[in-house]
Amino acid sequence: MLELRDINVSYGRRAVIHDLSITVPDGKVVTLVGSNGAGKTTVLKTISGLVRPTSGTIMFDGKPIERMEPHDIISTGVVQIPEGRLLFKDMSVAEHIELGGIRAHSGGRTEAERLAWVYELFPILRERREQKAGTLSGGQQQMLAIARGIMANPRCLMLDEPSLGLAPIMVDQLADAIRALNENGITILLVEQRVDLALRLADRGYVLETGRIVIEDAADSLLENPRVKEAYLGA
Ligand code: ATP
Repeated sequence: MLELRDINVSYGRRAVIHDLSITVPDGKVVTLVGSNGAGKTTVLKTISGLVRPTSGTIMFDGKPIERMEPHDIISTGVVQIPEGRLLFKDMSVAEHIELGGIRAHSGGRTEAERLAWVYELFPILRERREQKAGTLSGGQQQMLAIARGIMANPRCLMLDEPSLGLAPIMVDQLADAIRALNENGITILLVEQRVDLALRLADRGYVLETGRIVIEDAADSLLENPRVKEAYLGA
């Protein structure tokens, strides 16, 4: 279980996250919903150790991780797939996937098993394994970013806007992949601008507005929540 308690984050003197508490139970999909600039990416970066909270605690599996280095956080099994994918355009698909295994959490699947699983989840990556990442389509790049993350053997995978820029058919494939990861025991924390999609994939959701959690509920209840409908579902 991943648990954030009373987290505050500032950039310089500007406070952007205020007393934020969220819980991501093992085996669940939790989504963080909010408009641009609400602080969603900041929350993920804080969990990953890329941004330091000014106060509060982050526990993973009962251990505090909020002062750990990013690579040590990955080794505990908490892995972020960044928004915008952050691929190296001249490196091949296979090289990216190999790179993802460098800081792996130990236990569970072996590296060879993860490699086989990644290519089973995303057969197109096997076909394109010698191709440079920069020549892949947007959807294939997103799959590669996820594949690289899986090679780190995550127990909790954080996805930041995975559907951004994808064609509708690719969004469906992405949703299937997220479901498959979760069915295989990976806990998911999802940030997604497509709130309808996020809430259909998730068990629970939190609504973040200007750095504060304003609503927390079961995902199917949030889909029916008038405030959520009006602000995020275009109803
Ligand atoms: P988006 O979906 O647009 O990425 P978000 O909800 O993820 O939005 P954040 O990127 O976390 O929001 O940004 C939260 C606030 O912090 C915004 O007002 C943003 O301008 C500010 N911010 C983000 N990164 C930095 C930074 N490195 N330095 C200063 N301010 C920042």
